[in-house]
Amino acid sequence: MAKKALIIGITSQDGSYLADLLLEKGYEVIGTLRRSTNYVHENIKHLYGKVNLEFADLLDFESIARLIRIYKPDEIYNIASQSVPADSWNLPYYTAEITGIGPLRVLEAVRQFHPEAKLYQATTREIFGNITADSANEDTLFDANNPYGIAKTYAHLMVKCYRESYGMFATGGILFNHESPRRGLWFVTRKVTAAVACIKNGVKNPPMNEMGEPLITPDFKLHLGDLTSQRDWGYAKEYVEAMWLILQHDKPMDYIIGTNTTHNVEELCKVAFAHAGLNYKDHVVSNKKFFRPTEIKPLKGDYSRAKKELGWEPKTSFEDLIKLMVDSDLQTFK
Ligand code: NAP
Repeated sequence: MAKKALIIGITSQDGSYLADLLLEKGYEVIGTLRRSTNYVHENIKHLYGKVNLEFADLLDFESIARLIRIYKPDEIYNIASQSVPADSWNLPYYTAEITGIGPLRVLEAVRQFHPEAKLYQATTREIFGNITADSANEDTLFDANNPYGIAKTYAHLMVKCYRESYGMFATGGILFNHESPRRGLWFVTRKVTAAVACIKNGVKNPPMNEMGEPLITPDFKLHLGDLTSQRDWGYAKEYVEAMWLILQHDKPMDYIIGTNTTHNVEELCKVAFAHAGLNYKDHVVSNKKFFRPTEIKPLKGDYSRAKKELGWEPKTSFEDLIKLMVDSDLQTFK
């Protein structure tokens, strides 16, 4: 009989790639949507008819518990979150409710109604926010320094607590930044690749940024925050494979998933604009308005445990990732 997987947050970048992967592997996939007045879900248009879509909200315990009771999934992936660190300063209560307490609702629903299920929780490198180190592994101490990272730390520790207290197969994937053509337009990589496409193609009505302003100005400028910010950027399509492998391991463990490299935003701009034959210096402006109140420290994701125990390692280089995103956006924004 086919294995059943529940993906909470299937409309996300990661949820949609994970659904693709699980369908390929022959799973029956159940994915959750939020009640909305706008049912535009670009990332899952290709999945309509192939997965069971159900309503659920991390704010609503019963909506999660109901699906776990009805479907009794073998594997549950909690991908959903208020996922934008930059927004978390303006929405600290909301972020705590969804990103922190939301996973607790999932853990409780699993514990009460289907404790044999294997559970994956989407943790983030933001739990290490302020630490000064070259790289982080699974033993690195947490030092989150924004409301998003702090909420994710709470959820991550709750996963450990439920694993140890109740013997549940509950795991946290500590993922470093991962990107793709399905990345939300309010994250810096996608902002850059979408802006490159709009500039190259002379798009007159560019998409909006997170401030409700056109992504590029009429004189073809892209306003970003701190160009010296560094991230460990990998390819989302490869990272969802790690999620699946984590749940196939015989023991529930937390794993770092990253590339063990970092690049800064200026390098990102250079690669993206050059790929379209443009010079980023003619278009990119660093604007204080987009700076975070506190930055996270540069940090590489040491994925040695994942390589050794799961056989997982990243394959796509930073340059190739950015180029594939630019190529995709050149088709999307014409
Ligand atoms: P994303 O594209 O920003 O999507 C977030 C998802 O959460 C969407 O499906 C959204 O649904 C859903 N959601 C938001 N609030 C919800 C609620 N109250 N109830 C149910 N669903 C809700 O996320 P992503 O970039 O793929 O990231 C996936 C997960 O990994 C997130 O938990 C994120 O915090 C974490 N993470 C991401 C990265 C990264 O670099 N991408 C790194 C580390 C960890 P709607 O479509 O309805 O908005």
